[in-house]
Amino acid sequence: MEINSVGIVGAGQMGSGIAHVFALAGYDVTLTDINQESLTKAVALIDRNIERQVSRGKTTPEAKAKAMACIKTTLNIADIGPSDLIIEAATERETVKQAIFDDLLPHLKPHTILTSNTSSISITRLASRTDRPEKFMGFHFMNPVPVMQLVELIRGIATDRATYETLLAVVERLGKTAASAEDFPAFIVNRILMPMINEAVYTLYEGVGSVKSIDESLKLGANHPMGPLELADFIGLDTCLAIMNVLHDGLADTKYRPCPLLTKYVEAGWLGRKTQRGFYDYRGDVPVPTR
Ligand code: NAD
Repeated sequence: MEINSVGIVGAGQMGSGIAHVFALAGYDVTLTDINQESLTKAVALIDRNIERQVSRGKTTPEAKAKAMACIKTTLNIADIGPSDLIIEAATERETVKQAIFDDLLPHLKPHTILTSNTSSISITRLASRTDRPEKFMGFHFMNPVPVMQLVELIRGIATDRATYETLLAVVERLGKTAASAEDFPAFIVNRILMPMINEAVYTLYEGVGSVKSIDESLKLGANHPMGPLELADFIGLDTCLAIMNVLHDGLADTKYRPCPLLTKYVEAGWLGRKTQRGFYDYRGDVPVPTR
């Protein structure tokens, strides 16, 4: 099936990045959120980020103008119903995602493919509440979307081959690389990445190292481009905690228990870069460790 129009739910870090890459690839994009400020910020961010790509010679001013003209925003989720493909990229909470799909169902075209950018939640369970589990898939982009090459494709138990092949073709048109993962908690990338981040928080919690020494150790000692705590701030500590909870509940193994210090940061509303404070404080010129 050919995809021309794409509806994206959630205009946060991921929704805006997804809108950016689809618009540059020539798709008609409609972005929706419950918060007008998120929509306004997302369009400004996409504009700035594509401008940066223009200044680095990665795209042209004409392609930028064309991409920006492809992006519409709306506060009314019904407006995205007629899209060929819908990508849900709202907050990582199952009840939020379920309510979004419930609201969308009456407005969909029969051919519309539904997807979720969830980092960890069961695709089969999300799909089972819709009228089209065979046209439902996990479509997991990495952060920052315009930079990261990988897209995880996750088939639920009922997903049909045509839907999978359609999304493979979309990934190809975006110039990215697909990896197929089975529908088990947190799929591949976060099944491996999140326990490492959680262990870094335990290392901090138990006083084995400071924020600075933990991040430096992994950067200089394991050649990671970012330290695990810096990366946690970048992902969002609420998202990290939500993924650990899905791993813990879904795999019923205590090795996945979220570190109490991670929970504490989320309770404080210190969610990382997006709230300007997490394991680092980003309110000044340079990030300062908070512990
Ligand atoms: P975010 O907090 O930056 O953005 C979430 C957005 O969803 C906000 O703008 C919020 O207003 C909006 N929202 C909340 N409820 C809504 C609703 N009912 N209808 C419409 N919009 C709603 O979060 P994010 O980092 O962009 O994460 C979004 C999704 O992407 C999550 O499922 C997350 O697991 C996944 N994801 C995140 C990362 C990452 O590194 N942050 C990477 C891959 C996937």
